[in-house]
Amino acid sequence: MAGNKKKKTEVRPLLVRPGARYTCFGDGLCCTDIHGIGPLTKKEMAEMRRIDRRSAGWDDDHEDYMLKTEADGGCVFLMSDQRCSVHAQKGLEAKPDGCRRFPLGLVATPRGGRITTEHRCPCRTMGDRPELRAEDVEASICDGSKRPVADRRIKRIPLTSKKQLKFSEWEPIEAEYIRRFSGREALLGILDAKPFPKLHGSSWEKQATEFIGARDGTQFGVAMAWVGDTILTLQNGHETRSPGRPWGPAFDRAQARSPKKQSSRDVFGDWLADEVWSLKWADDYNFNLARTELATRLAIGEDICARLEGSGARLDRAAAEAVMMVEVVGESDYWTEVKDRMRI
Ligand code: SF4
Repeated sequence: MAGNKKKKTEVRPLLVRPGARYTCFGDGLCCTDIHGIGPLTKKEMAEMRRIDRRSAGWDDDHEDYMLKTEADGGCVFLMSDQRCSVHAQKGLEAKPDGCRRFPLGLVATPRGGRITTEHRCPCRTMGDRPELRAEDVEASICDGSKRPVADRRIKRIPLTSKKQLKFSEWEPIEAEYIRRFSGREALLGILDAKPFPKLHGSSWEKQATEFIGARDGTQFGVAMAWVGDTILTLQNGHETRSPGRPWGPAFDRAQARSPKKQSSRDVFGDWLADEVWSLKWADDYNFNLARTELATRLAIGEDICARLEGSGARLDRAAAEAVMMVEVVGESDYWTEVKDRMRI
């Protein structure tokens, strides 16, 4: 009987979050060591090395094949005008899959394929961006046979550690969160969760010290140090230090093309809406923990934003840099450990 049929996850139709806006302006941050550039398949690695022998190889930190960066943190193929030399000379198809895809992603659900966007690039967070349309980005999330490729498949939603919802039960709850994130309410109030919960078998100070110790000369390491430093300040009143802003030129470019300013509330609200929409959290934990985890990163991000504004940064840029940092750190193994220790 049709009514007893179990709903499968689907990649079509392609679905876009209402209110999501993005296009690539070539601000250039995504082609740097703000994150590991990869992973590459063995075939992609061989193709990149055929173009430039120094460009790719095994990376012990990521335990995978990755693109290599120059001393300034940029990918070997990143040109001075922020264009990709592989793309310029051989076309979009010649780039590794991860490069074609970023900052987009796809999650298969019973309703269709949700297009997701990462917020660590100012192309996603700053300026007057067009509405995201599935037809404009379809090529980036499909394979050579024009089939959308899902990063994850989510069928049911873990609301708490004990309660799961059917996808159709989750959708109206989620729609209400997303509507409120784009409004005027205080974001922490919408999340309705207390930041910095007790960490099992550790402390925030210990974790923050590890974050600061992760500084390794990359932009990622500097973002880790900012977040670690901010945790120490918020938790223990430590005096803040400024770990530097090596990503400044990418945000300078974004600011130069963005005469219209947004509020910091809009930048953070847009990020939270996509964090919920992405359903990354539904893969290995639940919405209760996600709200607490997001409330914690929001508190860190808002403090960083205030510090940056205090040092003279335009408010929307300060918020965009802060979102970049809390997203980069949120994707790291260091934050996975923090989330594991938040579990009750
Ligand atoms: S290969 Fe091209 S798109 Fe990929 S990181 Fe390098 S410069 Fe950027």
